[in-house]
Amino acid sequence: MTSLLTPRSRAENPEAPVPAMAPSAAAGFRQQARRRWVRADFITFLGWLSPVAAVSLWLAYGGASGFGSFAAATTSIGIVAGLISMDLVLLMLLLAARIPFIDNTLGHDRAMKIHKSLGKPALYLLLAHGLFIAIGYGAAEGLDPISESVSLWVNVPDMWLAYISTLLFVAVVVTSLVAVRRRFPYEFWYAVHLLTYAAVATSLPHQFSVGGLFAQGTWQRWYWLALCMATGSALLYNRVLEPIFATFRHQVTVSRVVRISKDVFSIEMTGLHLDELSGSGGRFFFWRFLAPGFWWQPHPFSLSAEPIPATATTPGKLRITVRILGEGTARLARLKPGTKVAIEGPYGMFSTAARSRKHVVMIGAGIGITPLRALLESTPFEPGDATVLLRGHDENELFLGQEIMAIAEARGVTLYHLTGPRSPKSGSWLPHSAQQAGFTLASYAPHIAEADVYVCGPAGWAGKVIDDVKAAGVPTEQLHYERFDW
Ligand SMILES: Cc1cc2nc3c(=O)[nH]c(=O)nc-3n(C[C@H](O)[C@H](O)[C@H](O)COP(=O)(O)OP(=O)(O)OC[C@H]3O[C@@H](n4cnc5c(N)ncnc54)[C@H](O)[C@@H]3O)c2cc1C
Repeated sequence: MTSLLTPRSRAENPEAPVPAMAPSAAAGFRQQARRRWVRADFITFLGWLSPVAAVSLWLAYGGASGFGSFAAATTSIGIVAGLISMDLVLLMLLLAARIPFIDNTLGHDRAMKIHKSLGKPALYLLLAHGLFIAIGYGAAEGLDPISESVSLWVNVPDMWLAYISTLLFVAVVVTSLVAVRRRFPYEFWYAVHLLTYAAVATSLPHQFSVGGLFAQGTWQRWYWLALCMATGSALLYNRVLEPIFATFRHQVTVSRVVRISKDVFSIEMTGLHLDELSGSGGRFFFWRFLAPGFWWQPHPFSLSAEPIPATATTPGKLRITVRILGEGTARLARLKPGTKVAIEGPYGMFSTAARSRKHVVMIGAGIGITPLRALLESTPFEPGDATVLLRGHDENELFLGQEIMAIAEARGVTLYHLTGPRSPKSGSWLPHSAQQAGFTLASYAPHIAEADVYVCGPAGWAGKVIDDVKAAGVPTEQLHYERFDW
């Protein structure tokens, strides 16, 4: 069924919250987006500059003069490959470090996409490094590459650690390949991924002890040390210390678990200093429920309501809405009030911080509707400037649909419930009935090209929506997609 819920005017609904858009806000969105794009260009520039800088270290050391013989040329190629490989690994770690400047500029998703795309090049360069060094050193000493590799392992201090590091990197990259990753549970993949830190740690000693480039007294050594230490500090602060501070500061505690449907429930929580999280409705946190059987498994969930700071009489409130998709989420339905919660976040760009336009269109399906509910509540727009499309098999699948309807009425949102089965043949994300009636995305959101578009729902469905959104002329910068898969 396709239904249009006509927005009521504020005169009919005087109790509704005042839409929070100042006249200058629309211009502010464009300015905010421009600033973000400049920051994104700056990060991209630094990303490209960093391997160039790594090679420059070697050129400044006189590396280019080492091409006089086959052995020297091969060794030089090996050194350059190793430098770029290590530089890419450090870039990958920085992208995964959840540094606010990077995540709030590129978005956590895009940062992780770049992180993943660097994995294979880094590994190939690492293998090339080992191979060319073995050939080059071997040619200089009259040994074949295999004998040279054995000789390096036995005779050169720290080299055995480098070999172990290579094996660890191979394990990490291979288990990250989509086809391999899908065969293992998330925890296995995560545990293997933690080996990256061991791989970096075991690769470092030979970088400083073998060869002259990073020998004591060279400025190149200081540069490389600073790069490694800055990366390690960023990881330690953002991935370990900051979440501990946030957990102690906000004192999040489960207050109750509310059933929404057979396999969906909301977890309501109280917390302190929630004014500091204002505007994060729709963004996600990693939640670790500190009770026996729960604490070891953190889950990413988005806020399904804007955080409510405490008043003189009521505590601060947070809420997430969870669909049971596996054992972990099934267990969460049995959480007891009073359970303490460790938090990491907020992350992601599913917020007003991503806005670049006055108009906004939100398209959600299934459990992906719930962050849209939070965003709809908090993001500023004038009545008539927001359109929401909710997709589900039937009305029961439009989770928090009643709350969204109330917000839509209060804030002048054009809301469509798109329910019913898909056409098995067309592969469209719209209901079969809507397609038969000749409706397309433009029928529901005619000005979509001029809007920020937020999409959240199952990956296959969202892919089809995104294709339609792009075909409707929405530039990538205006498209904001939250993935729920890993
Ligand atoms: C950014 C983001 C926001 C999300 N928001 C919501 C939400 O608001 N509501 C909701 O119902 N679901 C959300 N999800 C999906 C939700 O995290 C998974 O469905 C849930 O963790 C599955 O746990 P499980 O133990 O039941 O399933 P299993 O498949 O058995 O998962 C096993 C392990 O994998 C971890 N895991 C599973 N999926 C992911 C993932 N996508 N990223 C990282 N770790 C994962 C789980 O935490 C668990 O430790 C979100 C996912 C992401 C990435």
